[in-house]
Amino acid sequence: MKILFYATKNYDQKSFDPVLTRFPDVKIDYIEHEMEPMTAEFAKGYDAVCVFVSANVGRKTLEVLADNGVKIVLLRCAGFNNVDIEAAKELGITVMRVPAYSPEAVAELAMGLALCVNRRLYKAYNKVRENDYSLKNLRGVNMRGKTAGIVGTGKIGAYMAEECRGFGMKVIAYDMYENPNLKDFVTYVSMDELLAQSDLISLHCPLTDDTYHMINIESIKKMKDGVILVNTSRGALISTNDLIEGIRMRKFLGVGLDVYEEETGNVYEDRSDDIMEHSVTSRLLSFPNVMITSHQGFYTMEALEAIAETTIQNALDAKEGLHTGNEVK
Ligand code: NAD
Repeated sequence: MKILFYATKNYDQKSFDPVLTRFPDVKIDYIEHEMEPMTAEFAKGYDAVCVFVSANVGRKTLEVLADNGVKIVLLRCAGFNNVDIEAAKELGITVMRVPAYSPEAVAELAMGLALCVNRRLYKAYNKVRENDYSLKNLRGVNMRGKTAGIVGTGKIGAYMAEECRGFGMKVIAYDMYENPNLKDFVTYVSMDELLAQSDLISLHCPLTDDTYHMINIESIKKMKDGVILVNTSRGALISTNDLIEGIRMRKFLGVGLDVYEEETGNVYEDRSDDIMEHSVTSRLLSFPNVMITSHQGFYTMEALEAIAETTIQNALDAKEGLHTGNEVK
């Protein structure tokens, strides 16, 4: 089985190649190009393509893949908001994802962001390096005794809920489905109650039509003053313009984002010498209480190994037509 691997970073090859030694029938060619309609043509002659979060897997791309005989798209990630699922179905293309590779990894980064923005660790680090030992602008709050509001209590949200409990926080959550594993310590509330009661709000639901811009100026106004907002899920859960308005209203103690609306052209690129035009992210970064990381929630050794293992197994399962639950439907 031949797989064309798009948007390769060196860590991809380092994590896939060792796992490949256990799958002698699978061959991967790695290219740096991102998946888009034009580059989809490169996949002619391959059984499958393997793509990541910033790939364009819209109708046009899928049509080019189908025209070139490619029947399998392997997402080496959990989220699939960048895939036109209806188009894939119509074209007979199977799309597979890695639903759970290491949910702890993402939850741990979410907690890391909450702690960093609370205690301004990014500022503290730089201050001490510059011989500034003052405590100016570093005051935070105790997490213990505060209320954490988890939006989406699936795999990642459940770990985040546990971590918050570990910090001595009261944990409330909003989800359409209650996670029975959390019933001992999580109280489910409405979204409005969550917004009104939480000192920390952490987003762990997928990006769908329903969740697009779920954090907007109306929901921000319902939050407590001095709230910490963390998003490790998908950028478009938050309206960036409304977030900026909320920050200017002094609503937030801190905002920690591993994902943000404009990330597509940035993710895993070194753009340090670029002049960013019309960048709403640059405006976000100008605020002292905002910390942004570049979609690194998944980036642990354990998660990378699990992603490689599941993606290769997904390829073989899709080729056999097996239904494993990893298909995107
Ligand atoms: P999951 O499917 O296990 O859980 C998602 C939960 O969200 C489910 O319980 C679902 O019922 C709930 N949900 C759906 N719509 C909702 C809504 N409108 N309001 C409230 N809850 C809703 O998914 P997961 O593995 O926990 O992943 C969550 C998200 O994290 C993914 O969708 C993905 O976008 C993101 N993610 C980010 C990274 C990263 O590197 N930053 C890595 C992996 C996943």
